[in-house]
Amino acid sequence: MCLFCKIIKGEIPSKKIYEDDDVYAFYDIAPQAPVHFLVIPKKHIESAMAMQPEDCEIVGKVLYRGQQIAKDLGLEESGARFVFNCKEDAGQTVFHLHMHVVGGQKFGWPPFPKEG
Ligand code: AMP
Ligand code: ZN
Repeated sequence: MCLFCKIIKGEIPSKKIYEDDDVYAFYDIAPQAPVHFLVIPKKHIESAMAMQPEDCEIVGKVLYRGQQIAKDLGLEESGARFVFNCKEDAGQTVFHLHMHVVGGQKFGWPPFPKEG
C-alpha cells in the first residue's frame, strides 16, 4: 500500500485538516511556504497522468476542497498556488495523486529557470 493510502487509513500519522468519503487533506510534512497542505482522493490514482474519465468527479472534489480550505486559512484575497506534480520531470515523489496548495507568500512564474 502506498504512503498516502496508509495516511488515509491512519496507519501513518498526519496533521489532518479535512476528511470525507472521497477526499482527505493534511499538512505537508516539509512545508515549502507559510501555508502548505495536500489534498488527495481516497481512491488510489497514481498521478494526474493516470487519471481516467471516471475520476473527473473525485479530482474535481480534490480541487474544490483545496479551494475551501485555502479560504478557511485566509488565502481567498491573497491567492495561492494549486500544484499537481506529475511523474519524473515534475519531481513527483509520492505516486498517489495529490494537489499541493501553497500560499502566504508571492511565487514566481515560471517556477523554475530554463537550463542553458
Ligand atoms: P510530490 O513531490 O509532489 O510527490 O509531493 C509529495 C509531498 O508529500 C512532499 O511535499 C512531501 O513533503 C510530502 N510528504 C511526504 N511524506 C509525508 C507525510 N508522511 N506526511 C505529510 N506529507 C508528506
Ligand atoms: Zn495510494
